[in-house]
Amino acid sequence: MGRVSGRSCIVTGAAQGIGRAIGEALVQEGADVCFADINVDKVAEIADLNRGKANGTGAKVTYTQVDVTDRSAVKDMIAHTVSLFGKLDVKFNNAGVNKPMNFLDVTESNWNFIMGVNGLGCMIGTQEAAHQMIAQGTGGKIVNTASIASRQGFDNVAPYCASKFAVVALTQSAARDLAKHNITVNGFAPGVVATEMWEQVDKDLMDIGAAQRPGQAMEEFSSEILRGRVATPADITGTTTYLAAPDSDYMTGQIVMIDGGMVLV
Ligand code: NAD
Repeated sequence: MGRVSGRSCIVTGAAQGIGRAIGEALVQEGADVCFADINVDKVAEIADLNRGKANGTGAKVTYTQVDVTDRSAVKDMIAHTVSLFGKLDVKFNNAGVNKPMNFLDVTESNWNFIMGVNGLGCMIGTQEAAHQMIAQGTGGKIVNTASIASRQGFDNVAPYCASKFAVVALTQSAARDLAKHNITVNGFAPGVVATEMWEQVDKDLMDIGAAQRPGQAMEEFSSEILRGRVATPADITGTTTYLAAPDSDYMTGQIVMIDGGMVLV
């Protein structure tokens, strides 16, 4: 028996990076997983890979395209999952975007893009997952991807920080609102994780003059990590599987820092 055997889970932003790793770890622990992403070709590939690895665990794997800012697409993603797995137990609101800009240059479209995916996407994802869990009468777990940027404002990424503070607020508010339905809402906060997102952020920071050479921004940004190195997605998944498993049933409204000791709160 795996730690999450028989649990039906959805992970958004699952085509790469942290979301992919969350989904893969759940499959290895016996969960049925819907890998969901706006990039349908890539997420289909990842789902296929995991279907191959699920043999023996009894886990089922599917995928779907979703834009987390589009409520009807989110409803379709949940309906697709329930039609295959019979229910929804755990929903990871993980899809996220960043696009660094100097504070004085931040535009409305930069703000709306980042707040849309990271903030509104988290709210819609939480609401629609909760509707399904309430209809089932089973309760459930919602897990949001926060960040060190949920705890501190950093330069050149103000809308991203605002959006990740919003994730904490949504986690706490939803935990209070949904407790009566036996639904818990928690989050986890990575620090610097080596993913495609950071590769792009590194380039963007050079484009706006905040860094002069590749890798410089990541080095400077992460120089204070007590554990002495940046994270890989595999550093995150022990905690994410825990948040999907019965072991965390008594927790709600919490954000677990997994940043190697970068921001101490
Ligand atoms: P990533 O860019 O590697 O992956 C993000 C995935 O989300 C991509 O597959 C992308 O296609 C998908 N996506 C983007 N917009 C979407 C939308 N509208 N609908 C559905 N899917 C969409 O990023 P990552 O580093 O794996 O980050 C995953 C989460 O972790 C994000 O919420 C991010 O903010 C957060 N985070 C990352 C780090 C880090 O250092 N990498 C640190 C803290 C928090």
